Amino acid sequence: MPELPEVQALVNGLADHLTGGRIDALELASFSALKTVSPAIGDLAGHEVTAVERRGKMVCLQAGSLWLVVHLARGGWIRWYPVAPTPAARPSKSKITLRVRMEDASGFDVTEMGTEKRLALWVVRAPEEVAPLAELGVDPLSPEFTVERLADLLGGVSATVKNALTAQSLIAGVGNAYSDEALHRARLSPYKRSDRLDAEEVARLHDAVVGVLGEAVSRAEGVDLAELKGDKKRAMAVHGRTGQACPNCGDTVRAVSFATKSLQYCPTCQTGGKILADRRLSRLLK
Ligand SMILES: [Zn+2]
Repeated sequence: MPELPEVQALVNGLADHLTGGRIDALELASFSALKTVSPAIGDLAGHEVTAVERRGKMVCLQAGSLWLVVHLARGGWIRWYPVAPTPAARPSKSKITLRVRMEDASGFDVTEMGTEKRLALWVVRAPEEVAPLAELGVDPLSPEFTVERLADLLGGVSATVKNALTAQSLIAGVGNAYSDEALHRARLSPYKRSDRLDAEEVARLHDAVVGVLGEAVSRAEGVDLAELKGDKKRAMAVHGRTGQACPNCGDTVRAVSFATKSLQYCPTCQTGGKILADRRLSRLLK
């Protein structure tokens, strides 16, 4: 699932390629992905792309007086081509949701892998018209994300710190992978109650979130968009590394599984050596 650093790198790459170019045509292959009716998606044609920006994990492309907003969800991505493929985009044969052709013959596909089909598109006059975007919390790479702000956010909800960190309405852009990494770096249990962190723990977590995301953004700079996913995996200390050695202490990285995803942590670094109950596993053993 693309998170803030990958979406930032994607947006940087798209901005380089698309800004100043003019949209020639748009082919919508998956009609259910488009959440707005008016303005029509075809209204973007003929306009020059003036900005490509990130809001949380969403990609916002401005063309003329309109914005195309893309929520990539779990399996979504945007693939840019120096020369756009010529065959029509067919949803049954490909994972293409939308194909956009530029006047200079370049173009990009909005794609979605997997079966969830939660990728969403909006055509609006201002990004804030998109409800999930308007509800986004503070951007963790913005100056507004201070230790005090994080303390307020965590203290204001009754949740595990893992759930609080990944709530897009609190902090925009942090998902399962980078929250695992930040909690590991801050040496905090994912199950710790967010409103029970002391000042020193909040400061440590703030450092960890900013550090983990900032390093990932720097790493992603200059990496070819197609290589980003593999690059992300290699840089993880605990996320996706169940059974491997923690790079800090050598203990075995453990996982807790949920219906469609799992979290990873190091017992020695984060839980005082305690193994967290994996409900799915214990259910299987009954
Ligand atoms: Zn460890």
